Amino acid sequence: MTDKMYTAKIEMVEVGPRDGLQNEKVSISTADKIALVERAIEAGSRRIEVTSFVNPRAVPQMADADAVCAGLPARQDVTYIGLVMNGRGAERAIETGRIHQLGAVAVSTDTFAMANQGQTSDGSVDASCDIIARANAAGLTGQATIAASFGCPFEGEVGEDRVVAMAAALATAEPVEIALADTIGVANPAHVSRLVARVLEAIDPLPVRVHFHNTRGTGLANVWAAIGAGATVVDASIGGLGGCPFAPGAAGNVATEDVAYMLERAGISTGLDLDRLIETNRWLSGVMGKPLPAMVGKAGGFPQAREETEKESA
Ligand code: ZN
Repeated sequence: MTDKMYTAKIEMVEVGPRDGLQNEKVSISTADKIALVERAIEAGSRRIEVTSFVNPRAVPQMADADAVCAGLPARQDVTYIGLVMNGRGAERAIETGRIHQLGAVAVSTDTFAMANQGQTSDGSVDASCDIIARANAAGLTGQATIAASFGCPFEGEVGEDRVVAMAAALATAEPVEIALADTIGVANPAHVSRLVARVLEAIDPLPVRVHFHNTRGTGLANVWAAIGAGATVVDASIGGLGGCPFAPGAAGNVATEDVAYMLERAGISTGLDLDRLIETNRWLSGVMGKPLPAMVGKAGGFPQAREETEKESA
């Protein structure tokens, strides 16, 4: 590590099994979802968003949440996260006995909050605080994500003051962290840098997690800017799958292998094994029946194993 400004280590959260898959039209089997979790663990993931407990009519891909939880490998060293939108979802997640952490979502604008979860923005903050409180009361942990922190698909620009105020309100419920999500992929590094710094100050000593979608190609630049501003946890999905059923035009998450490649090459440890991530990309591409958006998944790491390089240049 040569640049003192940058941390030596960040924590990655694998969101592929939930955010990555939820918007896919092809129905993925429960066994394949569990296999994806197992492969993520083999590649070094220790925090994984495994499913969401939402209305199956709204998000059919997550209808097997209970079955996915029942099949999760029993690991003391892995934190399984279940995304929930309300008290009912929280109770369902707690009842599985397999979820360690509840993820709540507060939305920065009223229009998007209505489309995403049928409540106002303030209502989504209250619901998130309730979910975190339920998690803490049940002996789990809770965290909150502020969706559309950098821009809204319906209302356009989102004021930084609004996001900072939401983060401060969410922090009072005692989550383990607060995340800023660029749900539709409109953020730029300067905006990310400013907002991460402001939110960190507002929720001190809680950490900031970041969640970027690569809709406009700024995903990796935003990850780098966020880490430079003090974010210590990064969401990503293997292969770069993802989207939002309620956010028109949103593309995939930043790809786990792309983020891991960038950070590891820059001397920042992610705890992930790039070769295993690339293997998983190939496997998942087979399951999905299409190539996945990740760049490193296609190109491979660097420097490559000698045998592989010789084969390629032959
Ligand atoms: Zn997302």
